[in-house]
Amino acid sequence: MIWPVSRGLDVPVATFLVRGDSLEQGADPAHDWLLVDSGAPMHVEGLVEAIGQVLTHEKDSLRYICITHGHLDHTAAAPALLEKYPECKVVIHEDEKPFICEGLSFRTLPHDRTITLRDGDQWEFEHVLKFIETHGHTPGSASFLHIPTRSIMVGDAIMNIASVPFWSRIPCISGPLAMSTCHWGNAMQAIDKILTYKDEVDTVFPAHDYSEDGIHIDKVHDFHRPSTLQSKH
Ligand SMILES: [Zn+2]
Repeated sequence: MIWPVSRGLDVPVATFLVRGDSLEQGADPAHDWLLVDSGAPMHVEGLVEAIGQVLTHEKDSLRYICITHGHLDHTAAAPALLEKYPECKVVIHEDEKPFICEGLSFRTLPHDRTITLRDGDQWEFEHVLKFIETHGHTPGSASFLHIPTRSIMVGDAIMNIASVPFWSRIPCISGPLAMSTCHWGNAMQAIDKILTYKDEVDTVFPAHDYSEDGIHIDKVHDFHRPSTLQSKH
């Protein structure tokens, strides 16, 4: 989706709707659906409608909204979707919960419909989406590794939007936007951590990306060699 941040500055922002089972669905695919991130405020109506167009089977249900971090462009449609899908809950890192549940930041989501996780915690769909702490951009930023497609959705830990000039729309790999990042050192370590999943991941999907195909993890490695390698130079 396109997020018009200001006049002449359109930033893409992605959400991902995935089925809650493997790619081999056979004759009886699962009816559980998971959403990763939930758009900016102007996307709410369109996003709710688009999800409704995919979840057309009477058994289809949106089970979880998995939030990479609490910023407004990733959380806006969550309240409307929780209202529409009574079984749905939000999955978020424990350290991010105050920002979206306790009024410290943008949205107030009900405590009883929010599940908090840390690295290694088990949750219902961990065979499909692996929860990985990648804090730095925000205190509780997280990534979600989609096991069936060997891809990882990293929120704003990595971006692929144009930097010079910003409006050129030529994809360009970068770290998170510095002015909205709370701890730059941790944010760089988060990229190191994402690269440690190289054996399980082919494609990195930033939430802000002018390419719809994501980035091959080798290109992320070329952009950001882990600090242990850098120290050899
Ligand atoms: Zn963002």
